[in-house]
Order: sequence, then structure tokens, then C-alpha cells
Amino acid sequence: MGVAALNWDARTHSLSHALRDELGRPLASLRLSVTDRCNLRCSYCMPEEHYRWLSQDHLLNFDEVVRLVDIFTALGVRRVRLTGGEPLLRRDLDRLVRLLAANPLIEDLALTTNGILLAEHAKALHCAGLHRVTVSLDTLRPERFLSLTRRNGHTRVLEGIAAARRAGFSGTKADAVIIRGINDDEMSGLIEFGRANDVEVRFVEYMDVPGATKWNMGNVFSRVEMLATLERRYGKITALGSDSSAPASRFLMSDGTVFGIIASTTDPFCARCDRSRLTADGMWYRCLYAVGGTDLRSLLRGGAPRDEIAARIADLVGNLWHARRDRGAEHRKAEHGRSAFVPLDTFLSDPHFEMHTRGG
Ligand code: SAM
Repeated sequence: MGVAALNWDARTHSLSHALRDELGRPLASLRLSVTDRCNLRCSYCMPEEHYRWLSQDHLLNFDEVVRLVDIFTALGVRRVRLTGGEPLLRRDLDRLVRLLAANPLIEDLALTTNGILLAEHAKALHCAGLHRVTVSLDTLRPERFLSLTRRNGHTRVLEGIAAARRAGFSGTKADAVIIRGINDDEMSGLIEFGRANDVEVRFVEYMDVPGATKWNMGNVFSRVEMLATLERRYGKITALGSDSSAPASRFLMSDGTVFGIIASTTDPFCARCDRSRLTADGMWYRCLYAVGGTDLRSLLRGGAPRDEIAARIADLVGNLWHARRDRGAEHRKAEHGRSAFVPLDTFLSDPHFEMHTRGG
């Protein structure tokens, strides 16, 4: 190890102890988008006919991703989640997983996927060292899947969940965005599915994330309504204590079934949010709702010695995290006459606003 690397290590080590933002939130979780492409067109996430995509030359290669993740873990990140877009569309993702799994500072290495390609990749991902999988599953009805996602593939998603179990994954979660009048009649079906398949179901409130141009408050099926629906069917539900930084509150049914609710719209978790997001082209966002991000790709490709680049990025990220005050979802909640977050023409001018680019 060279002198510069030693200096950089020492500096980041001391920074990592101090690395809290202005509201005392640690830099602990990184959502790593590996592609902005998706093989579904979910109405609540990608409702448009056409999209502008990130430029292929700008996509970080695996070496660049690993270099950035090493910097983030040196600064305090302990949980890394691969996402997108649809992360399994990124070729050789298991190779990236293997590289990341070699980083001893990562305590939780997870993947969020729509499950379409999971059956064919589950084994390789498990062997490569991926810890956990979360699959998006909004419906158990194939025809509803088609109308929600505008693509076929429901059977493949279910096969993907089964394949993950066979491959050796445990702790698999299934996330369902519940939208009024669309799938709010499926909550008990999803609970039964979770029980039968050893999967913890999490119900997610419909959020006005960037990209959800069809969002309106009237379609939000709130946590209060979700709990009332499930209590009518199953009887008493008890709230469990949750890990302080997790977005989901967890609940217990009388038969021992545990499920989660992510109420980011009616009860945002900004006060505990320790996440930041890195896009596939190296833009770093400190909040899902941030208007601007920080271009780390240009620094990475800036042409200085590797250690010097790492030190510069670490300083920049450390300082920006230190100054972080974002509470995007709370500000959205406080807005009167709340409607879609970003107008359509803004997305067309810059794909970085999109949820599928920022990494959901
Ligand atoms: N393609 C992967 C998948 O489907 O899981 C990863 C990316 S996707 C953007 C990540 C998660 O964001 C999915 O679970 C999706 O349901 C969620 N999501 C997207 N738009 C949302 C919205 N408007 N409200 C709530 N959740 C949303």
C-alpha cells in the first residue's frame, strides 16, 4: 500500500466516526443502481410511452463501481442494495456481486428485483455472495400483472421467488405497492402467498416519487387503511418494534405471521433516513426527492492517480453528507394540493429525475 493510500485510509477512518449529517443521521446505506433500463413498465413508476435513457458511455464499469463502494464503506456505509431499473438486466451482475461481497465492511448486500429474470440468476447470485433478495410483487393475478406492468411475465416472477428459495436465499421479502382501486383487494392473498412461500410481505404506500407522473393522493391506500383491512380479515394485529433505520414498520398477526408496511407517503421516515443513492452513471443523491445530485463519475475518470481520486471523492462525499439536511418525503407531505412531484417535460430533459434511474 502506498503512502497516499495510507493517508487516505487514515483520513476516511477518522471521518467515518464523525460522519453524521446535520440532523445526526449516519451515512450507512447505499442504494446502487446498476442500470436505468427496465423490462416492465409499471404504471406507478414508468407510466410513459417513451423514455430518455442514460448514455451507455457514461455507465460505470464494475471496477469503477467497486472503487466508489470502497470509498462509501470506508466512510461508514454498511448496507448496499443493488437496484435499478431492473438490476438483473445488467450483464454479469453476479460478477459485480462477487467483487462487492469481498468487501468485509459490507454487512448486508441485497438486491431489489422485479423477479422476471430471477429464476435464471438466483443460483449464481447466491454463490457469488449476495445475502438477500427483495422481489416486487404487487399482484397474484396474471391479468392484473399485465395491466399494471404492461408486460407479460407473472409466472416468471413466481418462479423467480421459488428459485431464490431453492438457491439457498432466506429472509426473502416481497414488496407490494398497494393502490386504491387497483390491488387493495389483494392484501390477504399476498399474506397467504407469503406464508406459503416463506416470504415476508411488505405493503408499500403509493408514493409520489419522481417518475410517478400519474400519482394522486386519492389513490394512496394508507397504512391506517391497510391495517384496518387486515384486522377485519385476521383479527388483532400487534405492532413490533423495528430496526430504527428500516423504512418498514413490522406487524405480527395472532398466528405468528409477520408483515411490514412502508408508509413513506403518510408517515415518512426522513428522521431516520441513512440512505443515499448512486445512479448507474455515477451521480450521487442524498435524498430520493433531491433536485440535484453530485457527479462522481467525472471525478473518477478525471485522470489523477487512483489514491488521489479516492481521497478527493471521500472528502467531497464526507463534506456533503455532513451538510445534509434533506427531508424530501416530509416536505412533500407538507405540500398543499400535492400532485405529481416533477412535471413530465422535466424528465424528458434529464433522466436523472426518474425513480428507475435513481434506484428505487
Ligand atoms: N426493478 C426492480 C424492482 O421492480 O424491484 C428495482 C427498481 S424498482 C424502481 C424498486 C421499487 O420501487 C419497486 O419495489 C417498486 O415497486 C418501487 N416503486 C416504484 N415506484 C413507486 C411508487 N410510485 N410508489 C411506491 N413504490 C414505488
